[in-house]
Parts: sequence; C-alpha cells; structure tokens
Amino acid sequence: MKKRLFLTIKGIVQGVGFRPFIYNLATRLNLKGWVNNNSEGVYIDIEGENDYIEKFIDKIKTNPPPLSRIEGIDILEKVIKNYDNFKIEASKEENNKITLISPDIAMCDNCKHNIIDPNNRYYNYPFTNCTNCGPRFSIIKHIPYDRCNTTMNKFIMCSDCHDEYRNPLDRRFHAQPIACSSCGPSIWITNNNGDKLNISNNKILAWCKEKLLSANIFAIKGLTGFHLCCNALDFNAIQKLRNRKNRPHKPFALMAKNINIIEKYCIINEEEKKLLCGPSKPIVLLKKKNNCNIPENIAPNQNYLGFMLPYTPLHYLLFNEGIDILVMTSANLSGLPIEYTNKSAINSLCKLVDYFLLHNRDINIPLDDSVIKIILNKKVTIRRSRGYVPLPFDFQSNNSILACGSNMKNTFSINKDNFLFMSTYNGDLFNIETFNYFKKNIDHFKDIFSFTPNYIAYDLHTGYSSTKYALSHDNIKKISVQHHKAHIASCIFENNLKDNIIGICFDGTGLGEDNNIWGGEFFVGNLNKLDRIFHLDYVKIAGGDSSIINPWKLAVSYIYYAVKDKDKVSSIINKNFSHLKNESYELILKMLYSNFNTVYTSSMGRLFDAVSSIINIRNTVTYEGQAAIELESCINTLNSTILENHYSYTILNNIIKIDSIILEIIEDFKNNISSSQISMKFHNTIIDIVCNACKLIKEKYSITNVCISGGVFQNSYLLQNSYLKLTSLGFNVFFNMDVPINDSGISVGQLIIANEKINGV
Ligand code: ZN
Ligand code: ZN
Ligand code: FE
Repeated sequence: MKKRLFLTIKGIVQGVGFRPFIYNLATRLNLKGWVNNNSEGVYIDIEGENDYIEKFIDKIKTNPPPLSRIEGIDILEKVIKNYDNFKIEASKEENNKITLISPDIAMCDNCKHNIIDPNNRYYNYPFTNCTNCGPRFSIIKHIPYDRCNTTMNKFIMCSDCHDEYRNPLDRRFHAQPIACSSCGPSIWITNNNGDKLNISNNKILAWCKEKLLSANIFAIKGLTGFHLCCNALDFNAIQKLRNRKNRPHKPFALMAKNINIIEKYCIINEEEKKLLCGPSKPIVLLKKKNNCNIPENIAPNQNYLGFMLPYTPLHYLLFNEGIDILVMTSANLSGLPIEYTNKSAINSLCKLVDYFLLHNRDINIPLDDSVIKIILNKKVTIRRSRGYVPLPFDFQSNNSILACGSNMKNTFSINKDNFLFMSTYNGDLFNIETFNYFKKNIDHFKDIFSFTPNYIAYDLHTGYSSTKYALSHDNIKKISVQHHKAHIASCIFENNLKDNIIGICFDGTGLGEDNNIWGGEFFVGNLNKLDRIFHLDYVKIAGGDSSIINPWKLAVSYIYYAVKDKDKVSSIINKNFSHLKNESYELILKMLYSNFNTVYTSSMGRLFDAVSSIINIRNTVTYEGQAAIELESCINTLNSTILENHYSYTILNNIIKIDSIILEIIEDFKNNISSSQISMKFHNTIIDIVCNACKLIKEKYSITNVCISGGVFQNSYLLQNSYLKLTSLGFNVFFNMDVPINDSGISVGQLIIANEKINGV
C-alpha cells in the first residue's frame, strides 16, 4: 500500500546535517518527495510503501544525526502525488515561527582526520568544518540558517566545495560554513600594531609555536572571540601577561593538546572526561593533583585549574606543531566584553600582546568559553555561553516575557513557543560597553527568534543597569522579582519540582524586600510564593561597595558585630590582628559606631569574605569571590583529616545568630590554630546550619525537598557536604546544573516567577 505523509519536524534540525540524513534515508528506502528547511524547522513530503514510510519515521526518531534534537514531529496524511524522485528543496522563511539554532560545535573526529591527512584537500586547513561541527550561532545574522544569512556570505565557494555542498552523499552536503584553502577564510600574523608580517601561509603556525615558546604573548582570533595566549609552562611569560593585563591573581584558563596532558596536572573523573571531550568543549574546573607542577601564577592559591581541549582546527593545528599546553583566556580589557573583530582587537589589545594571529571569518555574535564544574557527578554551570547558547530549556507559557537578569554575570532570558532561551554571558554591566553589548544581544535574540515581549521581568535593585533597561520600556507590563527568590525559582524550574520546597540561597549580594542586602536565606514555598523562614542575622557593614574589594573592612564590621564594643574591637585588633591594623581601620569602626554609610546584610558571601580576612587569608581582592575561594582552597592542605566539629550558633525565631562563630574564630586565631583548620571548622558550621534549619522547617511544614542555589554554592566543599548530610537526614536535595548557580541564572528565575505572577492574576 502506498501513501503520502507530510511531516513537520521541530527542534534543532538545521545546520546539523538533518536534510542529508533525510535524503539518504529516503533514497535508501525508495521513498519519493522532498525535504526543506524553513523557519519552523524541517518539512518533509514523503511518499511510498507504507512499511517503508513507517521505517523512515522510526529511524528519524531513534537514530537522528548526533547534533540534532527533535522536539516534535507533526504528521499529516495527504493525497498521493506520484513524485518521481526525492529532492532537497530551497529553504523557505515563514513569519513568527521559531527555529532552533545549533550552538557552535567543536571540530568533529572526521574533520580532524581530514586536516592531518596529507592526501586530503582539507590538509592543514584551519577552517575545515562539516554538518557535524563548526561555527553556527556565532556566525548567524538572520534566520533561516543558510550561508547567505551568515558571515560566510562573503566567501564564494570554489567548485570543489560546491560539489561537496551539493552532494547529498557527502558529509558536507549543505554544510553552510563549508570552505577550503582556495576559497575560504585564511590566517595571517600581525605585530602588535596590526601590521601584517610577511610569513608564508604554510609556515605561520610553526612560526607561532616558536614565538609562543619564547615567551611572547598572542591574541588569537578563535571560533567565537579572541583569546590571549602564552606558554602555560613559562612562569615569566604568564607574569608578563598578568602585568600587562593588570590582572594579578584571577586564574587563567588553559588549553591542552589532549586529555593525557591534562591528566599530568589534574585529577579527572569519568564525568569530567565526557565533558572535556564532548562536542561543546567547555572549560572544566578540575582538581589540581597534589604534586602538580604547573606554574603557581596560573591560578594562585587555587585548588582548581580550568582546562579545555582544542575545539577548532586552528587550535588543533597549532598544538600539532609541538605545543602541550597554553594559557587561553578571553581577550578583553578588564571589565569589558570579549574582543571579536580584528580592528577593535588591535586597538584594544595592542599594549597587551606581541602578535596577533588573525583570520577573516567574521564573528557576528561573540561568546565566551563556557565554564563548568562537576560536583557529585553532576554539572554545575558557572558560565553558560559557547557550545550551549542558544540551546533552549523546555517551558510552556502563553506569555512572552523578557527577563533582564542580574547586574553581574548578566544573562537575559526570553520564552517563545514551548521554550525558554537563556542568552550568552554578557559579563558585569558596570560600563557602557557591556551595557551596549547586553542591549545588542537582546535585539539579536528578538530578531532571530521573532520575539516581542509582552512583559519584562527585572531585579528589585534600581541601581542595576539591567533594571534601568527594563524600566525604560514604557508600554510593556513590568514585573519585579526579588534576587534570591529568582535563584531558588531557577532551581525549582530546572528540577521540575511541583510540590513545596525548602529553598536555600547563599549568595553575595542582592536587594531584599526590606531594603537590606540579603544573601543567607531559607525559603519555603513554590514558584507562586516563597516565604522567607530563616536568614543570617543582619550585620551592619561599613565602607559601601569598597568593602567588597576590601574584605578587611568586612572583617572589622563582623568583629564589631560580634564584640559589640568599639574599644574592645580596637584592643583585639591591636593585640592579635596586625593584618587588620592599617591606617583606616579606626575609620571603619567610627563609621560603624556612628552609623555613617552603613548597610545591613544577611549575605553569606560577605560572611565568607569577612572570615577569610579575620584569619588573614585574603584582606584585599583583585577579582570577585577571591577571598571566599582562597578560604575554601586552604582546607585542602589538611589532606584527608576531616574535622567534624563546628563553631556555635543559635537559631532564634527566624534569625540565625552568628556572633559566637566570629568570637570563636577570633579565639582560635589568637591560639594559633592553623587557618586550614579554622576554615574547615567554619565550613562545617555553615553545613550544620543548613542541616538544622532544614530539620526545623521539616518539623513545622513537613517538607523534604530542598533546592540549593546562589553563587556561594560554587564552593565544592560546601555544596557537596551540604548535599550529603541533608540526604543522610532524609531530604531530597536539588541544585542548579545547566542553569548557572550564580547570578548568570537569575534571568531564568525572574522569567519563571514573572510567568507565575502573570498567570496568577
Ligand atoms: Zn566535522
Ligand atoms: Zn573551496
Ligand atoms: Fe545572586
């Protein structure tokens, strides 16, 4: 029996070799008709024997191309047309329909074989790609995904490329960015002023290797942005980069030739290996081996190193020249977005680098490398960008919401059809450049997803640029969402929880509903309503924003909070805390005493900062989170001795009093207890607070599901042990995985809560 079906396939089905797969499948099964790309996904008109059509659909469902993601297949029976062959038809654009776009994908193994095979026409070609790999989201200007809508538009395919592009049996059939050395993009070298150096094309990478190994610094244009690059085994080269970039301590990401090289320096488990080698190739934060002999200035005072593997043919060919490991850090000026055009990179980076390795495949939308940590065998996303954006999350809503996100580590989110899309990582919106970058990305998302918001969600903090942006829209309904509730909502959403939960949010800062700074919060409820049950006691802190980069100011504030008497604080500091005894500590005390420029905070992040400084681990910081990270790191020096004891605290009414924690830490420090012991005991105290608060809530509300979120939980020791202890007490514990656990995830939570509010009205 013959029949004809019309299939609409939705999902990630463009730019992933879907049409060639369909073509091959159809011709193999002797089916006729056609397939095309359109803004809704892929249409297939298929005609033939019933059995074969069933087989055809079954194969699509069970064995689609590796990078595709089918979200749905609509099937419509039609009248037989008697097609005489199977064809791939031209793409069609339809209004207001959504197409899922593939993220940028690391070079596949087949392409890797091509570029090292001297007999292959792609031998040594740094822009080799195919339908299974290469640039996607970063080069797409408009939808549908066809070459003319990408930055590859300016390269005219040579006849060889064209043949492969048109051959349905070829791996590069309809690979939009297809290119070869005779028709595609090319690389060149310039000095730091942007003057091209005369080096023959086939010698460029060998030349780069020599220069890199002799301590030169490069800016290398990559797949989705520029990297700053130097030899990661050369202490002096790293120091030169640190000095020029004015970045004394913040860790540098590393790229290693292969996984065996990484294994020399770090412990890697199976999950981490999968992540490192998979198609997204993020930076994975890996635990340093004890005898790790990487130069200390790669990641000073850290237990973790951020490693990734080469993900473009250019990287691969460069390492193939005989390099094992390089520093590969996002190329930007401090606080500004990643560089992605040749002209701007030369302008901005000329004083930082010795040479530029450039190419002429334009990047339309830049993306930073994604950063992920594996904790308890699950992904904990720190930064979600290249390789992941714009993969959507499933989400059903009839509202069109733009959620503007937090001010730091910003992302925004939108929803359309059955999806929620989180944006690229936009950085900290502290200056006009990042703010413009944020706005440009919003416009791009609106364009490629044909999205018009009916609602805008934003943070309560009116000082945030993202909030100002939201409030600048006059004719759209606006919904404010409290910061820490957004964190918890992102976790509820991601773990698909329907019942009431206990939400634990430990965070740096975020404005609370009472105008204090929150960040050590226990909630009870659901997406509709989250009630604040417990919070860390409010501590009066002085010094405003400058206390965030000067944890010693927080140390003075927290000691004052615990000791409560300014003369006693002075005498304690004078006697035992010489590291806090600088010219202005008296001033901080005076401010606290006279309530000048002080704020109240329940922030867990600030407590970590204060403790880090009280025990003289870190008194001033040069990057966000440094004091807390170094406090966690020093636990490591204890090796296997796990201390079970903790400092004392009380939970009274809805407040967790922490003054005795500070007082006992002061005593331990006075008694020369090692900082690693104090740190572990402090961490254990917080874990104990987590468990006790949850027990109290369970007794009263009979809730056993716990959601954990907030930037403080990037701390592996804290997250892991909180999880294990809570689980042993009978709680079901959930945390963020694909949605970043830090402020990058805020936009997702804002969107979810806003949607509930809209639906509740
Ligand atoms: Zn490939
Ligand atoms: Zn070509
Ligand atoms: Fe936060």
